[in-house]
Amino acid sequence: MQSTLTFQVSSHENPAFINHYHGGEIMSGTSFARKDRFIKEKRHDVYREMQKHAEPAKCPSCGAVFVNGRWQWQGIEKDAVHILCPACKRTADNYPAGEIEFGGIFFLEHRNEIINLVMNTERQEKKLHPLERIMHITHNEATTAVTTTGIHVARRISEAVAKAFKGHLSLRYGDGEQSLTARWMR
Ligand SMILES: [Zn+2]
Repeated sequence: MQSTLTFQVSSHENPAFINHYHGGEIMSGTSFARKDRFIKEKRHDVYREMQKHAEPAKCPSCGAVFVNGRWQWQGIEKDAVHILCPACKRTADNYPAGEIEFGGIFFLEHRNEIINLVMNTERQEKKLHPLERIMHITHNEATTAVTTTGIHVARRISEAVAKAFKGHLSLRYGDGEQSLTARWMR
């Protein structure tokens, strides 16, 4: 009955995991099998090259401003050229850097509370780091998937939930640490 909610641990998987969390504590463990459906070669280059352009620039979608070599929420906007920031570009391409899947009986019973924490954590993160945002939150019958524009916000969200609600968290980096797949179960 739990088969759809438990991890599929496979010895055939390359154990490219970083950490396993059990009850909020970091442990070593085996990677869970999962198709890296959004991890593709060369993807990161597309979004990194976005950083090499004239300043100042302003993203017409979110309003972030590129000055002094980084995207910020405030800055010189005069004479700014309009360039889609990497976060909005990823969103437009539906090409997430991070994905977190939440599941389990406890999760389903506390979904609203947990997703509130997810969204609050994102709000704090993107205040300082404009390119670290939630892309989509997709609720399914047994799980909720959260995709993000950066790996740092995905990690922060995952750790915030594991710290607050314990459970079991797996994090796995891919694509030269340009992508992060996380799964939290309780
Ligand atoms: Zn933008």
